[in-house]
Amino acid sequence: MAEIARIALPRPVRQLFDYLVPEGLAVQNGQRVRIPFGNQALPGIIVELDPKDPAKRGLKPIQNALEDWPVLPEGTRELLLWAARYYQHPPGECLFAALPPALRKGASATLAQTEYWWPGEEEPDALTSRAHRQKALLQWLREHPGQPRHAIRTAGFDGSLLQALEKKGLALRTHSKPAPTEHEPLPDITPQPLNPEQQCVLESLEANSRGFNTHLLFGITGSGKTEVYIHYLMRRIRRADEPSQYLVLVPEINLTPQTMARFQRYFGSRLAVWHSALNATERLQTWSRVREGEPVIVVGTRSAVLLPFTRLDTLVVDEEHDGSYKQNEGFRYSARDLAIYRGRLSQCPVVLGSATPSLESLHNARSGRFHLHTLNVRAGNAKLPGMQLIDVRSRPLRGGVSPPLLEAVGETLAQGEQALLFINRRGFSPVVMCFDCGTPIDCPQCDARLTFHRHDNCLRCHHCGHQQAMPRRCNDCGSDNLNAVGQGTERTETVLQERFPETPVLRIDRDSTRRRGQLDRMLDQVRSGRPCILVGTQMLAKGHDFPAVTLAGVLDADGGLFSSDFRGPEHLAQLLVQVAGRAGRGERPGRVMVQTCQSGHPLLQQLCRGDYLEVAESLLRERKQAELPPASFMTAFRVESGDMDTSMMLLEDLARRARSADEGVMIMGPFPAIMARKANRFRAQLLLQHTQRPRLHRLSNRLCLYLEQLRPGRQVRWSIDVDPLNID
Ligand code: ADP
Ligand code: ZN
Ligand code: ZN
Repeated sequence: MAEIARIALPRPVRQLFDYLVPEGLAVQNGQRVRIPFGNQALPGIIVELDPKDPAKRGLKPIQNALEDWPVLPEGTRELLLWAARYYQHPPGECLFAALPPALRKGASATLAQTEYWWPGEEEPDALTSRAHRQKALLQWLREHPGQPRHAIRTAGFDGSLLQALEKKGLALRTHSKPAPTEHEPLPDITPQPLNPEQQCVLESLEANSRGFNTHLLFGITGSGKTEVYIHYLMRRIRRADEPSQYLVLVPEINLTPQTMARFQRYFGSRLAVWHSALNATERLQTWSRVREGEPVIVVGTRSAVLLPFTRLDTLVVDEEHDGSYKQNEGFRYSARDLAIYRGRLSQCPVVLGSATPSLESLHNARSGRFHLHTLNVRAGNAKLPGMQLIDVRSRPLRGGVSPPLLEAVGETLAQGEQALLFINRRGFSPVVMCFDCGTPIDCPQCDARLTFHRHDNCLRCHHCGHQQAMPRRCNDCGSDNLNAVGQGTERTETVLQERFPETPVLRIDRDSTRRRGQLDRMLDQVRSGRPCILVGTQMLAKGHDFPAVTLAGVLDADGGLFSSDFRGPEHLAQLLVQVAGRAGRGERPGRVMVQTCQSGHPLLQQLCRGDYLEVAESLLRERKQAELPPASFMTAFRVESGDMDTSMMLLEDLARRARSADEGVMIMGPFPAIMARKANRFRAQLLLQHTQRPRLHRLSNRLCLYLEQLRPGRQVRWSIDVDPLNID
């Protein structure tokens, strides 16, 4: 019988499109097809198949299928369609977001087919006696016939060796899958023994690992969480009845080769990586391995949660509080929350880990939805450092550094140790100002100051990318008395280098690590253990293990205390604890110094007593009193257009509709964004909040449909953000 296929297209529309399945074409859900659309041919994904409805006439037929298998297997499809409803995002865009870039545009997935390598028939006389590496590879191929290229690379042989052998007829490639052989065993390595506390967590994880369960592993920095994940995964792999797949999510910044090397040691060629620096071919390869059901352990950033796993057995989300798990554009999903839903679909355990859990996760642990496990001591011999506040009111600062902190840096270096200073701004100075008339230099396109970058004498906007040369004179009064005001990483670096000319000062921020490999080179230098000073942004605060760092300094803690975003204090507490966590991870104890003008602030005082949990509990109580998330749920509607009136009027219209819908939803705004003008677009937002998610969801959905049929004009862009992480 003829069928109708309901097809999702990579378009910003919430509807699906009906097409006729031509006689003789066998298709399934999740398969890619090419369809006529207007005067184009577009790739689409089949979401539903229905028997032909005689009432529907004039449907166009599908042109052809792009593969004869579904690119999105059932579980992944279900996850994405659920996410499309939950995040109120067009389903086609959600489904296509889960494909590697090459497949989104309709390229053939046969490209993804892996090559398998075999030893050639030729006699190895063709090899000169000096070609040791080629001989070694030939020997390896004989022992491991039919391996894909990535396994050969993992074994330590690079592509040029394979090519050399192939030229001599000593290596052959095929594109067909080798006959199923025993899968590569795990490397025969016994991980280092866990300490009693870690062992206890491992046992209690295992005791609650049947079916779907969410665990929150709250372990102070350096307590050995990663070691626990590794032990747990190894046990899960050994005890699985059939070959299974595993996912470890890590924040964007954390994916250093060191982390990878650690996983590599234990999981060998079963390890697959996934992050934004992979090129299109590498992505396609990893995606194919996952899709083919290979028993991989994927370590990856945010979008790895969308990979087409078919036999998922365990999910781990490391540093679950990290903001990089939330996608802030287009399909605005939270990878942590999708990981939990994925665990439910696959009926398998999900482990969230952090030294500074989000209030959302703590709330879930308190209410019994998550199992809570804690690690209170540092692994090995390391001690958690003490935190000290330095009040910098009316103190002379040099490059943002106060005398006591400067002195502490000197002492640290004198003892042959390393110091790390955290500052939340890159560039030399965040403002350039005329000292005669007081006018700062603004971005011509944004409500923002231009940042001065001294290394190339340039002014840049960190919001829209605008850049210009440093002017000679003030635009307003013509004076040449222009001055760089305030600190960025570059200035702090300069000042410290002048003060400690003998010591390497390493600046780690987005500017100094733009090229591939730069960050790793600097991190290697830090790991050498010789005295140095690290100056950096967020990038330094997270995840890294620097055993020789014994002093961590925070140059300015005050921004987060007075943030307009209700999550400001939570994020500040997390940041301070994470920065502090970089100190004293080795044998020697560490200390932490935090500069502030608010040394009496209760939040900072509490953090000094060293208890993140205490801070988090009191923030959670405040949120509950104010009925803010996680005590309630929030949705943000955002509009940007060529002028503020248009943006505000559209949101006012939306607010009126929301009020008349009478769902008891709390409505905040509309109000202009903190940075009202960005890249010459005027931005405003409307916040909706309710203690019952279904009501909020129902109303948001109605408003989306309204906006979609309203089509507010080409210049106007709107978006919805469910569970927004940043609301300024
Ligand atoms: P976290 O993920 O909690 O920050 P890691 O797992 O990275 O902690 O461990 C911190 C440091 O302690 C690492 O250098 C690790 O090798 C070491 N470590 C972890 N567990 C143990 C253990 N049981 N015995 C000795 N050292 C350990
Ligand atoms: Zn001036
Ligand atoms: Zn700008």
